[in-house]
Amino acid sequence: MNIAFIAHDKKKDDLVGFAIAYEHVLKEHQLYSTGTTGQRIMEETSLDIFRFKSGPLGGDQQIGSLVAENKMDLVLFFKDPLTAQPHEPDITALIRLCDVYTIPLATNMATAELLLSGLKRGEFKWRDIVKGQNHGENQS
Ligand code: PGA
Repeated sequence: MNIAFIAHDKKKDDLVGFAIAYEHVLKEHQLYSTGTTGQRIMEETSLDIFRFKSGPLGGDQQIGSLVAENKMDLVLFFKDPLTAQPHEPDITALIRLCDVYTIPLATNMATAELLLSGLKRGEFKWRDIVKGQNHGENQS
């Protein structure tokens, strides 16, 4: 599965702790992230993560483009609900695209835990079917 990580600054410690706790599961998958989030996780785990740009510089949109191509299977986005973000439109756009393409999206740790439990139990196999059906799709 292709899994994306994003964490706003005040949530980065939480996401790093989450990645440490689930490292044994996550290491079996292809991992992507925004710039600083991925750097933090890689500093504190042995996970290999493809890092896009930092969120405020377009990283959320780069992850969104993979969602729009139906190539992202799971998005873990630890949002900070108490701090205004300069790139709020990009955040809204990414969440919208996850809804458009029915991509599992966690915006807090409790949901992320449930999704990772499902991933561990092999409950994401339907994504392979969906991706197979949409292979070559390029229309609106
Ligand atoms: P960052 O981006 O991982 O580069 O900090 C995340 C964000 O703030 O959207």
